[in-house]
Amino acid sequence: MILPETSNNASSHNPLLSLNYEPVLESLGDDYYDEVSAAEYPQHILRWRNNALLPRLGLNPAHVTDEHFCQAFGKFEGRKPLLALRYHGYQFGEYNPHLGDGRGFLYGQVRGTDGELYDFGTKGSGRTPYSRGGDGMLTLKGGIREVLAAEMLHRMGVRTSRCLSVVETGLGLWRGDEPSPTRSSVMIRMSKSHIRFGTFERLNYFQRPDLIKQLLNHVIDTYYSHLNRESEKYALFYAELVQRIAELVAQWMASGFCHAVLNTDNMSITGESFDYGPYAFIPNFDPQFTAAYFDHSGRYSYGNQAGICKLNLELLQRPLAATIRTNDMETGLSSFEEYYDAEYRRFMLRKLGFEQLDNQEAEELLRATLRFLNNYPVSYHHFFADLAITFSSKWRDDASCILNDSEIGRSLGASELFLNWAGIYHRILTNLTLAEIEKVGQTLNQYNPKTVVIRPVIESVWEPIAQADDWTAFNDLIQEIQLI
Ligand code: AMP
Ligand code: MG
Repeated sequence: MILPETSNNASSHNPLLSLNYEPVLESLGDDYYDEVSAAEYPQHILRWRNNALLPRLGLNPAHVTDEHFCQAFGKFEGRKPLLALRYHGYQFGEYNPHLGDGRGFLYGQVRGTDGELYDFGTKGSGRTPYSRGGDGMLTLKGGIREVLAAEMLHRMGVRTSRCLSVVETGLGLWRGDEPSPTRSSVMIRMSKSHIRFGTFERLNYFQRPDLIKQLLNHVIDTYYSHLNRESEKYALFYAELVQRIAELVAQWMASGFCHAVLNTDNMSITGESFDYGPYAFIPNFDPQFTAAYFDHSGRYSYGNQAGICKLNLELLQRPLAATIRTNDMETGLSSFEEYYDAEYRRFMLRKLGFEQLDNQEAEELLRATLRFLNNYPVSYHHFFADLAITFSSKWRDDASCILNDSEIGRSLGASELFLNWAGIYHRILTNLTLAEIEKVGQTLNQYNPKTVVIRPVIESVWEPIAQADDWTAFNDLIQEIQLI
């Protein structure tokens, strides 16, 4: 017997549809969005569901079926209103007043079991008033690339949005950067907020200080609520945003991640990382590495990310000046480097195995590590993975043992910069007890995944999908990344 794809009353039993959706953004009024409808697709095949996120929504993964996902996040049954958010942004330095959700909408907002409000945003859900010449769609490869970026960054401890699901939708899309026609998908992104720097920039463009203030109050109430009772809450908000963004870039840098499109419409007002298009994890430590093929000047290169994010924070002062004193914002921004340095050091030291280190030792070790990585064509991620895999208490007794079981140590072990680095690493280890040495091994393993989704790794899981619809490698990789 062939069963119908969905029964008529299925939606009332679908746990994803019966979540307690709160109309928080909707209640701000329609100056911020347009109501849209979702595309209809010829097919709905669930390709990815993030079970790890369901408990945070109060759901037991065993009670949510794949069909529930397809129904809610592919067919978009029974949910209204769907809101295409309005925003502008500086794209590659040029102001663009024609942006907005061009292939997505805010599906709904749900409070997690942690008390935080989460946005479900779509990508690839059809055309909107902001689609311009675009088809409103997302390629399947684009969907799985975003899943991989988000799960990898999360695994590395970066504050990131994550994907809830990817449904393949059965269309053939034409893209310049993929062999075409290429398969289509619709993705659901769960993030802290889809309010961007560009949301404020748009309101400034239309000279609406009233709406800027309303939105700012909403942002503080919802995402910076601990500041609400402060008399200087606006200045403190900006200072904290600077801190969150500076820390985020430091987290990317230590994780060897190049976002690729740091336009102000891709900067979240909560300081969370999101929107993973042509990103790349760096192959080797090269500040000039650029991920997007269309970034001809290298504006958003790996090494430029901190400077660009600081510039984006500075640009945001223009709309915020309607509510926040410029002097206060300048003071807030002046702490960017301090926050960046502290977070970068914290993340890098953890990757080197240390939760805490004397300041001077930390400086010396970091400088030597970067000098070594910068001067030899060593894979950034292999270096740290090999540290974790081959670490041994013998390294404390004998500097020549350091990385000598690894390809990197074997090929570069005689080089001056490596010996200098290993000498410093060894000296630090000699000051530790055996119990502390054991902890170094654990820390190394915790923060250095054995596999990082550099481009060849992504291609190696995409190839079997493209050639034979074989999802084994992709699923295995995700399982490995999520294991922690
Ligand atoms: P992004 O570079 O992905 O952040 O996108 C920049 C802008 O282009 C946003 O307004 C997107 O909604 C829009 N956009 C990107 N791709 C498409 C597409 N295929 N169809 C419609 N709009 C798109
Ligand atoms: Mg975007």
